[in-house]
Order: sequence, then C-alpha cells, then structure tokens
Amino acid sequence: MQRDYLSQKVRGLHPSIIRQFFDIAATMKDIISLGIGEPDFTTPEPIINAGMQALRQGQTHYTSNLGVTKLREAICAHLFKLYGVSYQPDQIIITVGGSEALYLAATALLENGDEVIIPTPCFVSYQPEVALAGGVPVEVPTCMEEGFNLDIPAIEKAVTPRTKAVLVNSPNNPTGAVASRECMLELARIAEEHDLIVISDEIYDRLVYGVEHVCFSALPGMQKRTILVGGFSKDYAMTGWRLGYIAAPQELIKGMILIHQYTIMTAPTMSQVAGITAILDCEEHVEAMRKEYDSRRRLIVDGLNAIGLPTVEPHGAFYAFPKVSTTGLDESTFATRLLNEKKVAVVPGIAFGKAGEGFVRCSYATAADQIEEALHRIDQFVKSL
Ligand code: PLP
Repeated sequence: MQRDYLSQKVRGLHPSIIRQFFDIAATMKDIISLGIGEPDFTTPEPIINAGMQALRQGQTHYTSNLGVTKLREAICAHLFKLYGVSYQPDQIIITVGGSEALYLAATALLENGDEVIIPTPCFVSYQPEVALAGGVPVEVPTCMEEGFNLDIPAIEKAVTPRTKAVLVNSPNNPTGAVASRECMLELARIAEEHDLIVISDEIYDRLVYGVEHVCFSALPGMQKRTILVGGFSKDYAMTGWRLGYIAAPQELIKGMILIHQYTIMTAPTMSQVAGITAILDCEEHVEAMRKEYDSRRRLIVDGLNAIGLPTVEPHGAFYAFPKVSTTGLDESTFATRLLNEKKVAVVPGIAFGKAGEGFVRCSYATAADQIEEALHRIDQFVKSL
C-alpha cells in the first residue's frame, strides 16, 4: 500500500468553496460575476509607472528582509497621519500580501492546541491559517439582526486558558461590517484582562462609507498587544503585486522576521518600490475608487432589498451579504441554481464559516451596469421560485 505522504494538518484542510465555485463558473459563457474578492479597477497609473521604472532602473534584486526602508518609513508616517499611532520602521515587515502577514502572525504565535477566537463570517483563510500553525480556530458568530457587529459577550465567553489571540477583521469580508469604536474598546478590555494578542486585519481600512475606521493598535494600551495586518491589494487595487505589511511590537517582529526570512526572504522588489508611490502619491485615486464603490454599494443594497433578499447596509469593504434563506433555498442551492439558471455568480455564505449559512456574498467591485444586469437576473430567478 502506498504511504500517505501528506501531513495530517494538510489532509485536514479543504479546498476553498470560492475556488470550487469559480472553477465551474470559468467554464461557462456570459457569466456576471459578483463573486470576485478583488477590485475591478486596474492599478492606478502612477503606481504602474513606478513599478516599471523600478524594473528599468535595475531594481531586480533582493531587498532587506524587513523590506525597502523608504516604504517602511512611508507606512509609519501614513499610520501616524491617519490614526495617530506611532511605529518605527523596524516594527514593520513588508510581506507578500496580507496573506503572508496572516501566516506569519499565526505561525509565530501559536503552540499546538492554542486557541484563536475568530468572529465569523470571516475571510476564508483564517481557520486554515490557524490550523496549519497547529492552533485551534474558535468561531464566534455575528448575526444579521445585530448588523454583523462583534458579539462582545460571546467573545468573552469563548476565552479559555488556551486562548492566545483574537483575529478580528474590520471592515469585514464578507459582511461589510465596520466595528465601532465602542466595540473595539470592549475588545481591547477583553484583550487586556485575559492577556491576549489581537491580530487586526485592516486590509480594507480605506474603504469605509460614512463611518470611521478604528485602527486597533491606536486604542489606548493596545499597540503592545496588536499585530496589525495591512495591505495594498484592496485600497490601491494591487492584488497581483502581492504586497502587504505587518506592524507589531519589536519582540513579535523579531520572531516573525525569522519565519519570513527562511520562507519568503523578501516581498517583490518592484512591488515594494511601487508601494511607496501608492502611499505617497495616490490619495486622489484611492478616494475616486472609494466613491465609485460607494455608489455601487447603494445600488446593490437597494436592489437586493427591493427583490426581497434582506441585506443590511455594509459600511466598509466591497461586499453585500444578503439573506437568501427567505426564498426557501439554502445558500449553496441558491448560488448553484442562480449560476446555472441565470448565469450570475455569487459565493455561498458557508464558505465564510457556519455563521454564513443562509447568506450569499455579492461583491460590488463590479461595474455598475453589470450590477444592474445581475440584479435584474436575480429578481427573475427569485420570482421563478
Ligand atoms: N484579509 C482579508 C479580509 C481579505 O479579504 C483578503 C483577500 O481577499 C486578504 C486578507 C488577503 O489579501 P492579500 O493577500 O491580497 O493582501
């Protein structure tokens, strides 16, 4: 009998439902996709030029493991300007997207059996990242009735002697919820009382609509407890450049940089150079994209509610999360039938944890005319049930 070479940890993982679903959608014609979790915009021109110029100037070598100093300085200045939180460049690691940042955080923190509290629905990678690092993901649901806000009493109840961290994401993928300052202060209190680290995934920080983004490490006493995950993929439409960062206390950086050094070495050099331009010169572009998302957000939320799919107003990121169980279908049947019968791709909420049951995720990082057509088809589909 052939030996099973794959580790137990890996055998315990399952392919992302999003991937499975989009592999099917990719084989079909005339699909409108509300499924993709990335900006439809091409990266702003000045960023592209900066990347190309870097290549032409021969910046094709490794950088320091921490990343290009000028980029780390720019990130520090940026975080201070926006949120009043003060980091030094040696407290920043430039990573291969927010994805690597999350991997570094989980791997550096967790012993086998350590628990990480994860409010759900959440980004599909959280539970696998924690499990790969030997940890145990502990899902704490949020609910539509409460606007998908963090359930602070439930988080506190989930704390055990094995809890090491809380992994929080605001603005949230997939619900679009943005945690209020009051809520984050309560989370800070829990972190302090139970001596926890907060991994704060803030990669959608600039995409908020009419509410403030609260930077967790800027809260009183929280900088020493926070691993701040930031990125360029969403705010600057740079998914393919693979650029993100971690901001954290020195002791944690010292551990995470070792993992980064021995697995990745450095984030892509030309992307790092382009990232400097993104931060220093592209505020107008960020604001223009944010405004466009905002108008699409209104279109999709009003449209879904008018169709009879209850949708709470998302205040951040670029996702709407309508309840579809009101149609009598579960989320996977709804998404599969909508794809087959009307050629509209959405993501079944179960992909984001058990709390996503009964919902689907619709991305509005899609052109307005496409959203209108998708709404029309969803309306026809719901009427046909
Ligand atoms: N965190 C969240 C909440 C996300 O939605 C994503 C991507 O969808 C990521 C992190 C990872 O993004 P990237 O690795 O492109 O920076």
